[in-house]
Amino acid sequence: MPVLKFDRENEKAPLTVWDRLSDQEREQVFLFSEGYRNFLDRGKTEREVVAVAVAAAAEKGFADLGGKSRLVPGDKVFLVNRSRGLALAIIGREPLEKGVRLVGSHIDSPRLDLKPEPLYEDGQLSLLKTHYYGGIKKYHWVGIPLALHGLVAREDGSVAGIRLGEDPGDPVFTITDLLPHLSKDQMEKKMSEGITGEALNLLVGSIPVKDPEVKLRVRQAVLNTLGEKYGIKEEDFTSADLEAVPAWPARDVGFDRGLLAAYGQDDRVCAYTSLRALLDLEPPDRTAVVLLADKEEIGSAGNTGMQSAFLENFVAEIMALRDGSYSDLKIRRCLSSSSALSADVNAALDPNYEEVMDKLNAARLGRGVVLTKYTGSRGKSGSSEAGAEFTARVRGVFNREGVYWQTGELGKVDQGGGGTIAYLLAAYNMDVVDCGVAILGMHSTFEVASKADIYMAYRAYRAFLKSI
Ligand code: MN
Ligand code: MN
Repeated sequence: MPVLKFDRENEKAPLTVWDRLSDQEREQVFLFSEGYRNFLDRGKTEREVVAVAVAAAAEKGFADLGGKSRLVPGDKVFLVNRSRGLALAIIGREPLEKGVRLVGSHIDSPRLDLKPEPLYEDGQLSLLKTHYYGGIKKYHWVGIPLALHGLVAREDGSVAGIRLGEDPGDPVFTITDLLPHLSKDQMEKKMSEGITGEALNLLVGSIPVKDPEVKLRVRQAVLNTLGEKYGIKEEDFTSADLEAVPAWPARDVGFDRGLLAAYGQDDRVCAYTSLRALLDLEPPDRTAVVLLADKEEIGSAGNTGMQSAFLENFVAEIMALRDGSYSDLKIRRCLSSSSALSADVNAALDPNYEEVMDKLNAARLGRGVVLTKYTGSRGKSGSSEAGAEFTARVRGVFNREGVYWQTGELGKVDQGGGGTIAYLLAAYNMDVVDCGVAILGMHSTFEVASKADIYMAYRAYRAFLKSI
């Protein structure tokens, strides 16, 4: 049996997943990444990801749970939460009280949201004010093409969808940066202060309306266009979810095309791989659940975030339809005997920034899916740390199923840290451990992942979902 965990004992010639794949397996890796590329380009916001995921699930025989009156083992269902969250399940042979196998990821990514009163004119230019969402380095967002995605909800209940800046023929938006020639003061500032949040204003118009009686003529021209093209008026901005995201598609990186770079791989890489794992799963013993959550990047609060009762409600609905009845006690038993992978990305060792990592415990690109026993910062603060026994069970599943894996800790002790939705799954008293893909440039506008690791994440989630 091959050794599936990558050790760091032989650092002179460290092996990667690539070394261990047959030619045929390499082909599978590249083929899989094409599906993922398509998913990334079509799903740049949580709403778009839900729509794309629902369409893919429907194609594989999944039906809306709302339309079901009874469930039997083998049935495939999904439930959408307010267009921004999604749960999918394949009903297992075992009773639900024995617990489910769950893989949970998040589908929101750092971005720039429009403010409720975004539109203004200054210096004969029209701009939109933004409020950043999630942990960004503000300098990433200036001097790049941005696309506007989302929807505007009108008072009468109708909505106008917007997706502008993705087609090569579309206009894009941008946030201009100061020229180096005049940046003496800016360049002396701390990096965190060089670009301010209030300076993240999107350039959206420059041609004024002809009427000289109008005061802010460029601003008015933008409003006219929005009215004509989308049927929206200024007040409609107050009820809009509009997100500015990088306008570029996912791209292969390197002469060998072994890496894929894109906006929003945190955490759509785990969302896609877990979704595909479920769609390709044979009817399991334990009910298999895949959860795509929103709002992780801002603390998982809100009715589409992991802190909401959505998962609990989903389990209750399934139980009622499968068993003909449910009780609070049975739901509690189900949740507390469940096992979960919190599927989220981890930081890979970056040759440019080795100093922030403990090399013995850092994940590497190309060494397989990353198993992370604990997250948190300082003294593991905020982590739901998985117990030894459950971590052993998961590593046993990977070893048995031929999944290449590695361990990974997010940086050196006291260097920083982070969290995932693991602690919120653990709050149901279920077993949970973090497991995802290592990324370079996490939270940048162009995050890099290894195609070999992406494929191993898919294999890992599929192995876990069907495990006993
Ligand atoms: Mn994440
Ligand atoms: Mn993140």
